[in-house]
Amino acid sequence: MTLNFEIPKLVKELKKRKPKKVLVQLAEGIKQNVSEIARVFENLGIEAIFSGETAWGACSIALQEAEALKCDLIVHFGHAKFISSKFPVVYIKVKDELDLNPLLKKSLSHLKNYGKIGLSYSIQHRHDINNVIKFYEKNKKKITLSKKMGFAAYEGHVIGCEYSGLKVIQKDVDAFVIIGNRFHSMGAVLAVEKPVILLDVYNDEIMDMSGIREKMLKQRAISIQKLKDAQNIGIIVEIKPGQKFGNPRYLVDKFKEQGKNPVVITMSEITPEKIMNFYHIDAFVELACPRIGIDDFAKYPKPILTFKEALVALGVKSWEDILKTGVV
Ligand code: SF4
Repeated sequence: MTLNFEIPKLVKELKKRKPKKVLVQLAEGIKQNVSEIARVFENLGIEAIFSGETAWGACSIALQEAEALKCDLIVHFGHAKFISSKFPVVYIKVKDELDLNPLLKKSLSHLKNYGKIGLSYSIQHRHDINNVIKFYEKNKKKITLSKKMGFAAYEGHVIGCEYSGLKVIQKDVDAFVIIGNRFHSMGAVLAVEKPVILLDVYNDEIMDMSGIREKMLKQRAISIQKLKDAQNIGIIVEIKPGQKFGNPRYLVDKFKEQGKNPVVITMSEITPEKIMNFYHIDAFVELACPRIGIDDFAKYPKPILTFKEALVALGVKSWEDILKTGVV
């Protein structure tokens, strides 16, 4: 990766806003760059405190930390705006200036049977997307960017919990190309039924994700059955401001109606170690990031389900309904 931290943009914002004390959040992949970013604040005479908590997405804006430390601004590196907040936040998306041409050329052999391509990218590649479109058009592909819907900040922008913009164009395309990482493309295969080709910018390879969908859906069906059989159920809510996927009270009432024992548990971040201590709980429903239960299921000693999956276990929705709107 060839990262551009958009320092001129940051400096301009800082000079305009004149903060005294800033809480800085770095996405996980760029925490290693903490020292060089610290120097920017230092040179401007601004006190900067770097959050050591995880920042997997802009859903985890550190409002509580910033308020507790009496900061007057949050600078969040690595993601686009996800939620609105009264607290002032500057988003620095960080550009990956990697030359995509070798990967684009490699992708053509995987796309030879598809003329109409749905295209999505992770935010680091937004600046390059017109070149990507030109490349494919020169190679006789018709490109449609995924729509800007829900949490997506731009046309074509993909995030791990928002695939409605891909779903609405799937009838018009033969396959999807995702520029980003495995995380984004795994979510896409669960959301759409067309082939998904990943341009994996981290591992410099092209991956055809077809085949993964059935395997993952089978695994989700097993987890749903385990939740149906569970007696003691933990409903986990996180305190991250953008991670509120479902209503815990609603689930408590519904599980009680079915004679089960639900409890609501709060966590700042769900981890296998924390889950482990709730020995007597048979299954968990997590209302935080919907990808935790799905992508990390193998790490957890107990089944963890999303809100949508819990609705299936409760009989409120059918599995077919969920597949229509997307598992994530
Ligand atoms: S909720 Fe999960 S998938 Fe969505 S932005 Fe946050 S970390 Fe990413």
